[in-house]
Amino acid sequence: MDYPGNLFVVAAPSGAGKSSLCKALLELDSRLQPSVSHTTRPPRGQEKHGREYFFVSQPEFDAMVEADAFVEWAHVHSNRYGTSKKAIEDRMAMGADVILEIDFQGAIQIKNVFANAVCIFILPPSWEELRSRLERRGEDSADIIDMRMKNAQLEVAQVAKFDFVIINELFDRALFDLKTIVHSQRLKISAQRRARAETFQALNIL
Ligand code: GDP
Ligand code: ADP
Ligand code: 5GP
Repeated sequence: MDYPGNLFVVAAPSGAGKSSLCKALLELDSRLQPSVSHTTRPPRGQEKHGREYFFVSQPEFDAMVEADAFVEWAHVHSNRYGTSKKAIEDRMAMGADVILEIDFQGAIQIKNVFANAVCIFILPPSWEELRSRLERRGEDSADIIDMRMKNAQLEVAQVAKFDFVIINELFDRALFDLKTIVHSQRLKISAQRRARAETFQALNIL
């Protein structure tokens, strides 16, 4: 499917810094819109229904799968997560730039539907640092952290399927890298033709 705006997909093992980086980018870039996923995991401390996620029960998630309401969904860390069509359709129709923060299985499904989606993988600088970030974040129990560390080994093995990779060592450097990817995507000829159609017309460029 062709997508009129730019579609960015950010994936990373849990704790690599994907949410912090996307949040910082969204604060800096008003042209970028987030997609709010559905999940069967319970909300964490400050999370609000409809802001970080739509928190739904297993049967509610099943009903959405049955109704073909998702563009993609996947099992991640023993919960299910999905991007609903509704979460991106309106923004797509407006030609807005949308950013999805999803796992690698979802990223691959999105790439199959939207061939021009830009897939970005965030790596931690080391396994030790990844574990200490998960511990420092203080949101998950020791068992869940162990499971996320184990899953992380499988996830990073998928990096070659992505278009770009950022190593999140120094946060500001990683944010700069992410901004650069978004910016360069917007300068592609196909994107400029859409965004600046009147200039192309005025210059008589076909
Ligand atoms: P995090 O890993 O600390 O960001 O924890 P989350 O519970 O917020 O996310 C769990 C996993 O689900 C991560 O790998 C997310 O990228 C992934 N995820 C979130 N939303 C979606 C979605 O809509 N679709 C898919 N496929 N994965 C998602
Ligand atoms: P994810 O969404 O990938 O699970 P988070 O954005 O929640 O990751 O980041 C995990 C933890 O690591 C958070 O406590 C965050 O503040 C911290 N963090 C993120 N990036 C860095 C970095 N470059 N250096 C140190 N800590 C970081
Ligand atoms: P957390 O439970 O820590 O918020 O997220 C765990 C993982 O689920 C993260 O890697 C996150 O990117 C992923 N995730 C969140 N939403 C979605 C989604 O809609 N689809 C998929 N496939 N993964 C998601």
